[in-house]
Amino acid sequence: MTDAALAEAKAAAAVATTDAELSADPAPGEPLLRVSNIEVIYNHVILVLKGVSLTVPKGGITALLGGNGAGKTTTLKAISGLLKSERGEVTKGRVLYRGRDVAAGDPAELVKSGVIQVMEGRHCFEHLTVEENLMTGAYTRSDGRAEVARDLEMVYKYFPRLKERRTSLAGYTSGGEQQMCAIGRALMSRPETVLLDEPSMGLAPQLVEQIFEIVKSINEKEGVSFLLAEQNTNVALRYAHYGYILESGRVVMDGEAKALRENQDVKEFYLGMSDQGRKSFREVRSYRRRKRWLS
Ligand code: ATP
Repeated sequence: MTDAALAEAKAAAAVATTDAELSADPAPGEPLLRVSNIEVIYNHVILVLKGVSLTVPKGGITALLGGNGAGKTTTLKAISGLLKSERGEVTKGRVLYRGRDVAAGDPAELVKSGVIQVMEGRHCFEHLTVEENLMTGAYTRSDGRAEVARDLEMVYKYFPRLKERRTSLAGYTSGGEQQMCAIGRALMSRPETVLLDEPSMGLAPQLVEQIFEIVKSINEKEGVSFLLAEQNTNVALRYAHYGYILESGRVVMDGEAKALRENQDVKEFYLGMSDQGRKSFREVRSYRRRKRWLS
């Protein structure tokens, strides 16, 4: 068997084993979402994800970390089914949600199953009011007005600022308010899992902290699971339970958030505790050693 064939057989075996473990009705802490060894190609030629695997447990906050262009957004879109509109395709591997393969599915169906993505850059409807924006999040629901009204109040409880700005056009609100609006709109779909892309982008540190505090509170009180993509490793690892670090389309390290925060390489390369600025994990001896063990 050639090396390539051996690697492929190993990957297939890993996928088969992990599939078997995923329950359709997981208990808190058990895997809810599993990405197994996915490869993503844009425009039939640009290979961006080269075998990414990760697991999101029910009720957890999982961080997907990495620099610019590492493949975080692509991973989230591979899960939510939003790659097609960008001429992207999952060409290998599987995405399982509650035991069901969703990689080739319809994004709207996935929202009905409880998974929603909050896109990078907020994406509010600028010409609608804050409240109208929030209400668009409830369009897939069929459980009646009273339930939707109750959830609107729930969103206002987490984001009192949105209640104050409920009649303002979203286009005239601040960056922080638009991020809140985008998260609030996702909550209006009654999600079980939110894929949150770069919530800190372009926001002042104090606001970033406030947004993460709210995410934590939604996670703890409503039991919503989060997979959040972040370049801001520092803040993400303070709020997440588990983290994966992506570089050039591969997971180069993963672990409990606390362990990652204390890891010397993460400190040096992602938490800015080095004089030389950020280097690549590929340049780190321990990373190369670890990679040899894994191959
Ligand atoms: P950022 O934080 O900058 O968004 P990221 O980690 O989310 O980074 P991605 O947006 O997933 O990274 O991009 C990963 C790679 O895929 C980059 O090299 C990017 O140029 C490329 N890429 C992303 N979208 C497309 C597309 N639609 N067509 C071709 N290449 C793309």
